[in-house]
Amino acid sequence: MKRAEDLRELLKKIDHKSYPAYKDTAGKYQFPGYVLSIDHVQGDPFAAPSKISILISGKETGFLKELFDTKWKRIALQDMILRQFYRQVEQYSFQAKGSGKSGLMSVSRCGQEILERSDCQIEKESGDLHFRMEIGFPASGRTIQARELEKIFFDFLPECVKKSLLYSSLDKKKWKKNAELSEDQQAIRNELKKRNLVAFIANGSILPRESGVSKRPMKNAVKFQSPISMEVTLNLPFYGEIKGMGITKGITLIVGGGYHGKSTLLEALELGVYNHIEGDGREYVITDQTALKIRAEDGRSVKNVDISMFINGLPNGKDTKSFYTEDASGSTSQAANVIEGIETGSKLLLIDEDTSATNFMIRDELMQRVVKRDAEPIIPFIDRMEELSEQYGVSTILVAGSSGSYFHKADCIVQMNHYRPEEITTFAKEEAKKFPISEKKVPAYQMTEFRRIVFSNREWKGAERVKIKTMGRDGFSINRENVDLRYVEQIVDGGQVNALGYLVLYAQRNLFDGKRSMQEVVTRLERLMKEKGLSGICEGTYLPSNLTMPRTQEIFACFNRVRGLKL
Ligand code: ADP
Ligand code: MG
Repeated sequence: MKRAEDLRELLKKIDHKSYPAYKDTAGKYQFPGYVLSIDHVQGDPFAAPSKISILISGKETGFLKELFDTKWKRIALQDMILRQFYRQVEQYSFQAKGSGKSGLMSVSRCGQEILERSDCQIEKESGDLHFRMEIGFPASGRTIQARELEKIFFDFLPECVKKSLLYSSLDKKKWKKNAELSEDQQAIRNELKKRNLVAFIANGSILPRESGVSKRPMKNAVKFQSPISMEVTLNLPFYGEIKGMGITKGITLIVGGGYHGKSTLLEALELGVYNHIEGDGREYVITDQTALKIRAEDGRSVKNVDISMFINGLPNGKDTKSFYTEDASGSTSQAANVIEGIETGSKLLLIDEDTSATNFMIRDELMQRVVKRDAEPIIPFIDRMEELSEQYGVSTILVAGSSGSYFHKADCIVQMNHYRPEEITTFAKEEAKKFPISEKKVPAYQMTEFRRIVFSNREWKGAERVKIKTMGRDGFSINRENVDLRYVEQIVDGGQVNALGYLVLYAQRNLFDGKRSMQEVVTRLERLMKEKGLSGICEGTYLPSNLTMPRTQEIFACFNRVRGLKL
């Protein structure tokens, strides 16, 4: 391996040459305590910055094995290291000068969730740390400013490494506390399963956020307090005894006046599929890992989805057992979202009336009298909720403010009152008796077998270069085909979108063969990522920074929104 001094000499040699001379720097260099690897060199100062990785042996980092001996602790440790590095690197970014992206030093900016990211990866046996980032190689115009890059590699980076990538860079109590929180969060997940719960919200949690643009906890918010009747007590390995609201499997209805905190509660549950950082306010809000937000999504494309559970006999004669559209309506999109959600293995649907198609959710008595069932293609969700729960083990948590009909179907009814939940099941059911609904049964539905075969939309030539461009958390494009993920609400950051782009590309090239079903493809991808991590989907090239592991549910959701795929 080359030595750090070799890099210094090379930099001297190429100083003031034309930009492409930077290409010679690619390779690995032994620095004191770590290996610096220049994985990819940008073509000009305005292009996407160069890809750098830093490899430090477990011995050198010094992290105790007990900080990363389970998957969740490892992810929590990686997350904390990355956050520290971010704070360091922020001070140095653009301190080296030049045109375009010269001097940029960047890693992913973490939000409130603790996620597996390519930026920082710890090898589970050896503890070796692999850190990835981007650096804008400095130039004025297209003339190399090698001295500026020398500052980055020889002054700034070593400082960042020392101050954030080593066990000694932080008070050891803090590392320990971080690991303990992740143990406690995992313990809650395990308890949910044992106790037949789909969610737990600890007393004292802060659910609302600071503002529409800040995901930090709201200051002076009303703290969450479970109604006594729903309170469960868990015993966590480090926190000890913790009390909070347990939501049992089945149908849970959240009602209440406008502005009383219903959607805020639901949003906290949506994100409870992820663990949150200390101080977030939702550290102990944990939801079934497969929970899926369901909403209307007018305009999306739908391919070969059996929506006949909800929609039959469309006036245009379209087949709803194998439904296709390039432009779904509110109700057909929401129906497709439910069925596709079940295909992902989701056991908990989260629905907010605010973002639902009314005609998909409910039909009131008077409407049923006037417009008879045979003239109405939609069997509303309310008439399928019990079947989903009882036959298929798919629970629902539903936020509703405007219709009492749900009272008849819910197993548990919670009213949000000035941000405080009250359990009103008995009272609401009593009242509901005075407004009976017709007990006409809808015909039972036989769940589809989910054998949707995926065909690639085109031939993929071996080494063909493909451009993936991401638009933050909103979506990405592959060779100019846009994939719109704006309504996939549980995507929390751009890194997940990046990874989804790579997954689509990988599957296009290797798995969409006209024989495998969607479920088989996703299973294969997840196995690949389990064995090889995120680099498994990068096909031989280096693993870039800013890839974040998406959930199963979002992988399916993404594939379902690639318009070019044939299904
Ligand atoms: P709903 O869905 O019932 O109409 P929201 O959940 O949208 O109500 O909440 C309305 C407003 O109240 C939001 O601005 C939200 O930030 C705020 N809010 C929600 N929960 C709390 C709380 N626990 N303490 C203080 N403010 C809250
Ligand atoms: Mg609301």
